[in-house]
Amino acid sequence: MNYLQYYPVDVVNGEGTRCTLFVSGCEHGCKGCYNQKSWSFSAGVPFDHAMEERIIRDLQDTRIKRQGLSLSGGDPLHPRNAEALLPLVRRIKEECPDKDIWVWSGYRLTELEGVQLQMLPYIDVLIDGKFIKALADPALLWRGSANQLIHRFKL
Ligand code: SF4
Repeated sequence: MNYLQYYPVDVVNGEGTRCTLFVSGCEHGCKGCYNQKSWSFSAGVPFDHAMEERIIRDLQDTRIKRQGLSLSGGDPLHPRNAEALLPLVRRIKEECPDKDIWVWSGYRLTELEGVQLQMLPYIDVLIDGKFIKALADPALLWRGSANQLIHRFKL
């Protein structure tokens, strides 16, 4: 898996102060997508062990307390990305048990299967569904368009 951006301190993608990772690769092709360069799986740079360690370290940092990790993209739940993110989310719940995990995906919750479903027990908040330009509303919190739903599993 590649990623496009990592923000170690972020206050706009989810509640509280967070770490945010924008992964590469998405096949939904939404018209009006805010980040078309994220569609390619080869965009950005490889997500390696050092990056995984950095995220864990940042989440454990007591100087700047983070509420959790946000995973966006691209699509973190594309099966290729979910496969690569599964070890990370497992580690976070083991090594940073008080941190929450938010995920933005173009897949509907009801469409998830296989490795995507394996991610679910580790996700606290899922914002699902494609971006639909006709339903776009800048006033929406955490969502781009009104069809998208915020599923709070544990918060
Ligand atoms: S799911 Fe997100 S990243 Fe993928 S095309 Fe739609 S808006 Fe863009």
